[in-house]
Amino acid sequence: MTAAIPDSTHRWRCAHCGNLTRFDVVRNRKSTQFWHLDLSGEPTIESEQVDADVVELVRCRWCNKDDAIEVIERPGPGDPLPEDVPGRRP
Ligand SMILES: [Zn+2]
Repeated sequence: MTAAIPDSTHRWRCAHCGNLTRFDVVRNRKSTQFWHLDLSGEPTIESEQVDADVVELVRCRWCNKDDAIEVIERPGPGDPLPEDVPGRRP
């Protein structure tokens, strides 16, 4: 199962423990890079085009669940910030 990266108005939330801020994200990216090497052979990557980018897994850093991650709306301007879950922050 693949997960979606939230857009600018959404965010991840762990439905198991309430974590909003810390996740392990396993991504499978394929890209084409332009490598420019100097005369000594040291490369500089001058540009990169992402050809494919699949998020394979999103896992909560707090409770280690990877099947409870949901996408929720971000708070809007003026909305109260979400409260931390007491006692769960490492
Ligand atoms: Zn969690």
